[in-house]
Amino acid sequence: MTAQIIDGKALAREIEARARKRSEELAQLPGGRRPGLAVVLVGEDPASCVYVRNKTRACERAGVSSREYRLPADTNQEALLKLIGELNADPTVDGILVQLPLPGQIRASAVIEAIDPGKDVDGFHMLSAGALLVGRRDEGFRPCTPAGVMKMLESVGVNPEGLEAVVVGRSNIVGKPQALMLLEDHATVTVAHSRTPNLAEITRRADILVAAAGRARMITGDMVKPGAVVIDVGMNRDEEGKLCGDVDEKSVSEVARALSPVPGGVGPMTIAMLISNTVLAAERHLGQGDTL
Ligand code: NDP
Repeated sequence: MTAQIIDGKALAREIEARARKRSEELAQLPGGRRPGLAVVLVGEDPASCVYVRNKTRACERAGVSSREYRLPADTNQEALLKLIGELNADPTVDGILVQLPLPGQIRASAVIEAIDPGKDVDGFHMLSAGALLVGRRDEGFRPCTPAGVMKMLESVGVNPEGLEAVVVGRSNIVGKPQALMLLEDHATVTVAHSRTPNLAEITRRADILVAAAGRARMITGDMVKPGAVVIDVGMNRDEEGKLCGDVDEKSVSEVARALSPVPGGVGPMTIAMLISNTVLAAERHLGQGDTL
């Protein structure tokens, strides 16, 4: 078997095109405007700079107006919280994104909790996490990476209901919300992490395998059930400095039914879901129903 490669980039472009149509409609409303996203970057971490650039470009494609706030690496928490307060109060800003990781002198949780939950387009605020936990779609925002994974599954005709799903990783931004979304769609979910013994025995049970551990090519073909759908969230550099995922594409593509590539898989989908969340935030602020 050679796995179907799930084209995250093409799917992301479709989502961005729908967002563009909706952005234009919102701008045409009486008292309407384009959705607005504020992106805050503290310091000059090279990977973060690339992510911010990609997000800004996606905003341009989707007709979302974006503003970048670049602060020096030695910015203190108070100054960052002051900026967040100003953006919370700015009616032209629908979504606020603070690029992580933050420098050591700033506590990320304090910054995330300071964002107005109505502008929490990354979906990291406690209110968004709670809304996901209790199944409220009308409150908060779904975290972009796991929401993108759910769209990728849908794109290859996978309905999680009744399937065995295994998520490798339990972070607040990927693994945990991913498990909740799969559970919400009626999969039987197992969450594995660094203390899980016999990982391969568990991953081999998965009809849907989501790898989000941040370990270069750790999921090999012998760890995958024949015919499984495998989504690779990982973004790593291998020994040669080459970008790679958590999945060993070569061996896994011989076993899986479908596989998402790195790059060109979850990465672009994460950005597309950020755009979607920003449009949703604008719809809510302009008193429009959720349509995307
Ligand atoms: P974290 O480092 O926060 O979490 C990693 C998780 O994987 C932890 O729960 C950890 O377990 C678990 N883990 C680590 N090593 C192993 C192992 N050997 N076996 C089993 N589980 C293990 O990372 P994130 O969740 O933030 O990100 C995960 C990966 O996804 C990274 O490569 C990141 O770059 C990528 N990513 C990609 C995005 C995209 O847009 N494409 C967006 C976000 C992340 P424990 O809890 O026990 O420590």
